[in-house]
Amino acid sequence: MSDTTATPTRYVTYEQLTPKQRMVLDAAEKNMELAYSPYSHFRVGASLLAKDGRVFPGCNIENANYTNTQHGETTAIANAYAQGVREFWAMAIIARGETFDTEVPTPSCGYCRQSLYEAAQVSGNDIELIISNTMKTKVLIISVHELLQGAFGPLDLGIDVSKYRTLKRSGESEI
Ligand SMILES: [Zn+2]
Repeated sequence: MSDTTATPTRYVTYEQLTPKQRMVLDAAEKNMELAYSPYSHFRVGASLLAKDGRVFPGCNIENANYTNTQHGETTAIANAYAQGVREFWAMAIIARGETFDTEVPTPSCGYCRQSLYEAAQVSGNDIELIISNTMKTKVLIISVHELLQGAFGPLDLGIDVSKYRTLKRSGESEI
């Protein structure tokens, strides 16, 4: 068995990122400060880069019952979907504790990986993840499909996801 605590060795630094990757990560860093996390005291910021160039914010939002807690990655997806945007290039994710900085990039949890996988299938392409430690000295570049291999998604249910990809603009509704 391999060591399950082994960390990836393919980190890059902030300086090695492209200007667009830096822009998305910088946005996620700002969003991290918007986290509502009175219970875990752990802040997660996300930002989702759409194909139209827009960037959607996400952060973790906790709840006293714990179960209703929302995660940074999924709130970013929800923000985009709620504005009719479902095609994406990349998402940046960064985290910190209230009293400590993360030394290594905090990987997305299983729940978020599944949501990202669905978003990637609907988008019609894999989505690049830019996952950083707090100080942006270690950044992991990995794709959703790499992070969640062999996953279950809408295509397994025979869903024609292309129908859900591009939304009509308001005013073009057939209702
Ligand atoms: Zn999560």
